[in-house]
Amino acid sequence: MSVAVKNSNADPQANTDPQEIQKFTELAADWWDLNGNSGPLHRINPPRLKFIDEHSGGISGKKIADIGCGGGILSEAMAKAGATVTGVDMTDAVLQVARKHANDEGVAVDYKLCSAEQLAAEQTAAFDTVTCLEMLEHVPDPAAVIAACAQLVKTGGSVVFSTINRHPKAYATVVFGAEYVLGLIPKGTHDYAKFIKPAELEHWARHSGLALKNMSGINYNPLTKMGRLCRNTDANYIMHFVKT
Ligand code: SAH
Repeated sequence: MSVAVKNSNADPQANTDPQEIQKFTELAADWWDLNGNSGPLHRINPPRLKFIDEHSGGISGKKIADIGCGGGILSEAMAKAGATVTGVDMTDAVLQVARKHANDEGVAVDYKLCSAEQLAAEQTAAFDTVTCLEMLEHVPDPAAVIAACAQLVKTGGSVVFSTINRHPKAYATVVFGAEYVLGLIPKGTHDYAKFIKPAELEHWARHSGLALKNMSGINYNPLTKMGRLCRNTDANYIMHFVKT
């Protein structure tokens, strides 16, 4: 369960783990290398983009906040699909990579060094859609981030989260398999204790006024290097909510 560090809007560091920021700073340089440490994120991006597009009423023309955007794999894809995207992250190094890449690609994305809670205080109910993928398992208080995402979205808008289930299969595939056996991602990238069960995510989201509408597993096959949506939610999964 999460460590209850209640975030204050005035202090963006309050719900940020400095060790996580250090880890992501080290991952920044090869973020856009398909065969680098973020390779699996690149491979699962098309199916998760499709999931967002299908369930949120389309990406094109929407104003979207991407929380914990990293080097911009999802933010940029959504901007290319016709959305106006604000990407926020608390790791300066990954944002620098994101800005440079978007610039090189000629894609407009507004990247900010800012927490979800801080953005929510500044831009309450300003977004049609909010995405927060593969981020909740890296913060001290995921429920506070979920509440901030609910605050950012308009009534009737969509919020999409993806994270990793605290299930033995996730330990076997994501931690032991991907980090220790296959070396796909650096050792220590994930902390099993911080993984989140779907029922926990749904409970926190419901508490913030978000109703669960759709859910899917996300599978990454290291042999074929293919990412796809799947029925099994024991490891990575994605959930779509609507603000009631
Ligand atoms: N959402 C992106 C990147 C996932 S990696 C994608 O799926 O492609 C997780 C990201 O969360 C990292 O970029 C890390 O810097 C960011 N992060 C960690 N703690 C954060 C916090 N408290 N606020 C915002 N972003 C944070």
